[in-house]
Amino acid sequence: MKKSQLARVGKFIRPYRITRGKGFRLKDIDPADTAGLKSEDKAEAREMLTRGVEWLAEQQDMLYAQDHWALLLVFQAMDAAGKDSTIKHVTSGINPQGCAVTSFKQPSSEELDHDYLWRYLRHVPARGQIGIFNRSYYEEVLVVKVHEEVLARQKMHPSLVTKKLWRQRYEDIASYERYLVRNGILVLKFFLHVSKAEQKRRFIERLDRPEKNWKFSSADVAERQHWSQYQEAYEEAIRHTASADSPWYVVPADNKWFTRLVVAAAVVDAMAGLELHYPVLSPARRRELAGSRARLEAE
Ligand code: ATP
Ligand code: MG
Repeated sequence: MKKSQLARVGKFIRPYRITRGKGFRLKDIDPADTAGLKSEDKAEAREMLTRGVEWLAEQQDMLYAQDHWALLLVFQAMDAAGKDSTIKHVTSGINPQGCAVTSFKQPSSEELDHDYLWRYLRHVPARGQIGIFNRSYYEEVLVVKVHEEVLARQKMHPSLVTKKLWRQRYEDIASYERYLVRNGILVLKFFLHVSKAEQKRRFIERLDRPEKNWKFSSADVAERQHWSQYQEAYEEAIRHTASADSPWYVVPADNKWFTRLVVAAAVVDAMAGLELHYPVLSPARRRELAGSRARLEAE
């Protein structure tokens, strides 16, 4: 990808990248925003996405060969915001050996016997890899904050459950991410920001279309009752954990084609920043390869 194309990519991420949480307001980002692109530009957006995804696949090969860096992409959203399909599109060209997606559902009883970060840490990507979290440790300050009974299941001693609990969790999450970044694991966090009206439309579509029925869950409709509490919890979480080193991307999610473009652009931008290249051979290694070639040719 050329410099000029990368500059274009920047245009799609700058408005949505939060590098300083203080004062962040969710209502400043419109879920229906498309950065000036109209629906007649959709074909062009798709073309950009395809090129971005191809470029990512090439970069991922170098990431793997170099074995210095890793990428952790965290996806959070309300139901039906398009996490699954965004992940599918953005990773579509990537070598499966260099990439792993982990989905986090309700914790098991074994997981609940541990500290809350335990189950997530085990899936942080190794060097050379791209790790994707479909939901993440952020659930610990989202669903757990919205539903008191979920916190009760975590078996914390009452003396530890104080008014400071959420602030402590934000701090610990932010410190853990800083630790990862200092170890060469880049952390990019995506909140796919869908509107309540668009979520309703997508739920009804799941009911209307037989091939989508399996995706429908009545629990998701119940969860809608807590919409504003979730929005507040997201806003607070982003305020406390957005930083220049591990930014949040609040991605408008009412138009799926635009969501995918912004997410791909953010990953392209992060990888471009690493200036990846294939490992340079030492003179000794070059001599070794020349020796092997000579032996093969002499057979
Ligand atoms: P989809 O609906 O597209 O399959 P999903 O991520 O919504 O994807 P579900 O199985 O529907 O998957 O939901 C997983 C549920 O697990 C979510 O409601 C989420 O809030 C919940 N969950 C995730 N982490 C935790 C946690 N640490 N404690 C309690 N609940 C959690
Ligand atoms: Mg769900």
